[in-house]
Amino acid sequence: MRILLVEDEAEMASALGTALNRHDIVLDHVPTLAEAEEALAERVHDAVLLDRQLPDGDGLSLLAQLRSGRAADSRGVPVIVLTARSEISERVAGLDAGADDYLAKPFAVEELLARLRAVLRRPGDLAARIVRLGKLAFDWEHREASVAGLALDLPRRELLVLETLLRRAGRTVMRASLEEAVYGFDDEVQSNALDAHISRLRRKLAEAGAGIEIHGIRGVGYLLRAPA
Ligand code: CA
Repeated sequence: MRILLVEDEAEMASALGTALNRHDIVLDHVPTLAEAEEALAERVHDAVLLDRQLPDGDGLSLLAQLRSGRAADSRGVPVIVLTARSEISERVAGLDAGADDYLAKPFAVEELLARLRAVLRRPGDLAARIVRLGKLAFDWEHREASVAGLALDLPRRELLVLETLLRRAGRTVMRASLEEAVYGFDDEVQSNALDAHISRLRRKLAEAGAGIEIHGIRGVGYLLRAPA
């Protein structure tokens, strides 16, 4: 896999390149919008990581160009916008401009990899599919969790927590990612609210005999797994 990183912080780019190489990802790094345009015209990338504050302008202008199809081969390339601050207005602007996702700096490589996996999933891959973990069956189309044919009664936020954890089952999901998934952009997040949802969800999964557990990693996030 080959990814284009448009980022003017050399140190970060080099650290990221080293980290991604370990996962068999080749990182092409360019520090400016002008060089990014050249790189995109030269070769097709599987995804683009795009910083916003660049020496020759806002990364979103490149995104607009990409989506308008000037470099036809790169028109649909998944773009993850990197934002210095995780401000809501920045995220919304990025998503509105056609970004597939955003990531607030600083971020963990593991989280970047998870986001990449998500944006690189082929369309339709997740649609109408039933995912099984332990004894739990989850229907993505109808957004329904069941154990042995019996549907679990989950309110919206518990459902969102379960979906988010399930999508990345076996991997740690950062607390911030869960909060974003559960609360969206509009709602205010109350501290500990997430933990309350998790604990109710845990209880329901245990009562239903789902055979999966939500493992908490203090200060980092949660991980959903089916114990062997
Ligand atoms: Ca920058």
